[in-house]
Amino acid sequence: MSSHTPPQRVARIAVPLPLHQQFDYCVPDELPLPVVGARIAVQFGRQKLVGVCTQVNPLDAHASLKPLNRILDSENLFGAELWELAAWLAEYYQHPLGEVLATLLPAAARKSEPVKIRRSEVWQITAGEFPLTRAPKQAALLQWLRDQGGSATAAKLRQNAFSRSHIRALAAKGAITRASDLLPTPVGPTPAGSVMRARPVVAGPQLNDEQQTALDGLNSLPEGFAPVLLDGITGSGKTEVYLRFIETVLAQGRQVLVLVPEIALTPQTLQRFEERFGAASTVHSNLSNAARLQTWLRCRNGEIDILIGTRSAVLTPFANLGLIVVDEEHDSSFKQTDGLRYSARDVAVKRAQQLDIPLLLGSATPSFESLYNARNGRYTVLHLSKRAGGANPPTFHLIDIRGRRLDDGICADLTRIMQRHLQAGGQALVFLNRRGFAPTWLCSRCGWQADCNHCDRHLTMHRQPPALICHHCGRRQALTQRCPSCDHEGLTAVGVGTQRTEEGLARQFPEFPILRIDRDTTRSQRRMQEHFATIQTGEPAILIGTQMLAKGHHFPDVTLVAVLNADGGFMSPDFRAPERTAQLIVQVAGRAGRAQRPGEVYIQTYQPENPLLTALLEHGYAGFAERELKTRAQAELPPYRPIALIRAEASAATAAQQWLMQIKTKLGEPLELFGPAPAIIARVADRWRFQLLVVAENRRRLHRGLKVLLQLVDAPRDVRWSVDIDPYDTF
Ligand code: ADP
Ligand code: ZN
Ligand code: ZN
Repeated sequence: MSSHTPPQRVARIAVPLPLHQQFDYCVPDELPLPVVGARIAVQFGRQKLVGVCTQVNPLDAHASLKPLNRILDSENLFGAELWELAAWLAEYYQHPLGEVLATLLPAAARKSEPVKIRRSEVWQITAGEFPLTRAPKQAALLQWLRDQGGSATAAKLRQNAFSRSHIRALAAKGAITRASDLLPTPVGPTPAGSVMRARPVVAGPQLNDEQQTALDGLNSLPEGFAPVLLDGITGSGKTEVYLRFIETVLAQGRQVLVLVPEIALTPQTLQRFEERFGAASTVHSNLSNAARLQTWLRCRNGEIDILIGTRSAVLTPFANLGLIVVDEEHDSSFKQTDGLRYSARDVAVKRAQQLDIPLLLGSATPSFESLYNARNGRYTVLHLSKRAGGANPPTFHLIDIRGRRLDDGICADLTRIMQRHLQAGGQALVFLNRRGFAPTWLCSRCGWQADCNHCDRHLTMHRQPPALICHHCGRRQALTQRCPSCDHEGLTAVGVGTQRTEEGLARQFPEFPILRIDRDTTRSQRRMQEHFATIQTGEPAILIGTQMLAKGHHFPDVTLVAVLNADGGFMSPDFRAPERTAQLIVQVAGRAGRAQRPGEVYIQTYQPENPLLTALLEHGYAGFAERELKTRAQAELPPYRPIALIRAEASAATAAQQWLMQIKTKLGEPLELFGPAPAIIARVADRWRFQLLVVAENRRRLHRGLKVLLQLVDAPRDVRWSVDIDPYDTF
């Protein structure tokens, strides 16, 4: 063989490392050639890695390669469609393919082990007569199986006092056979009875006219890719419209993916889907790795009809996906903020396009991106303007708190309003977007303030349990009473967090239960369930919490929503802050008056004339968005022009900054570059963070420009950097 002939048995592997490069391995003689998309165990330097084969016998392979260790799959584990999506993700988010592929795999499949669907062990009787007169127990087993309709799981058999040895004896005689034995490969036919098909089992309520019009609109969409924005106020019955449309898709024998923003939402949503369809599966971060893998494989095998999940569910393979629904499509949790920084909503759009299927984006406060697409005619828009079931939208009121005394964040007027609602038998929801007891812990004599030693941030004072906690790096310190600077005894908590308001309300309203819902309380699932149970009784109660309370919950007996401070959000330098704050206010407000009793919303503000706030109150979210979109257009910011953020961090500020300066000189025309500027919290966990904002005329330019960058750069050792395409937080 001439030395120029490329070696024959070579596999090109994408390894799960931040490298924009793939690696060749030779395939040992005793192994078959792997297929593209199979997982491959390889030795990489001193590490053992599980990579993925991306090419077999590439023409430019070098001779004398190290052998691969093990081929884990006999087929493309991702399937053709997800494989295509992986390539798109790597390209669009400028992320190494090896890492993209590792992100697509459930954690349990990132190990060097074959994966397969675990079937419950089902035994079934075979045809034929078997004389079992001398084995009465076996005869009894066979008879019992016949009585059960011919098959049962091993677990069921053991429950009925049949032992393993009897099962084995009968199997040896050929009288019974294991149903799952019919499945030699991970992907294959589904044994009868092992899959719960989702079909409508109960009828939903009679749709109102608007819902019916929306459903008709969905049912008359053109074949193929059809993105739809369902723009419907909170409580207008969007979910009901999803459910009806899903019926149609299921009836065509196709699968449905439903994306929801928060895990806290999933149980409620799942319950509603289960009640309607008899079966639905969920994926979320609280699921065990083994369970996640099973769901992943079954979706891939077409055995799950409806999958409901948070962000990462959009990366699940499906055999026959017919619809993607993104509920609360504006929600920030759909954007991944590290690693592969994808937006699940945008990926959903891409996937629906790739699969040529409809896509349903639903929200009461659509993202500006979606509103923009709707305006441009790229999305069909359907409106629901009335509350389903006849409830009226809540009324809005501002409370001017300039010069007023606040007790634990609440002014006297608001206390009276709460009293009125509680005494009338309603529930009151108090919204404050800051957890902990107080945001500052201060010396009243010398002005010393507790700061995190590792971040540019004050420590938040927590009282239950007592501690000073940095909300950025998570470090905790003991709650000191003595000032380390002047030795004064008697530090004070300044400012208000949810714990403090909870304490204050408990003093003012000792006769009512007070339920706090924030990241500190939701850690305990049991506590949350107790809280929700109390809320569901419908008895008067006070709910206090952060944005977790704003999302999707249906609290039928809440008649009052109080927003303690709306100003902070409108003052942030982030260009998305007004959009985000308006969404939050409208969503929290949407928890009020969802059933028979009318709702009221009170907003405490130091800036009652703030044009953003007044626009929102006077013109509603649609009017507000209209106005804000003009500002975005003038500033040439998204959705009018695409942006990316290049972030760098290092233990020395100059290193991060200088490296971004270098990048800036290399990028140049036709991109517009702003910075490098320190991130809004410049130091977190002892690392300094800088960022460079990249704005481009259009997407093609943005991507072309950034690609050049990736080919050029080689950052110094200490500098960690990343590119964030379509960043959500820009400060
Ligand atoms: P959204 O998803 O827009 O917030 P939901 O679908 O959750 O709204 O509906 C809000 C409430 O109204 C739910 O309790 C739901 O069961 C009820 N509902 C929805 N559609 C109807 C209808 N056509 N008739 C009566 N009640 C309805
Ligand atoms: Zn002091
Ligand atoms: Zn810190």
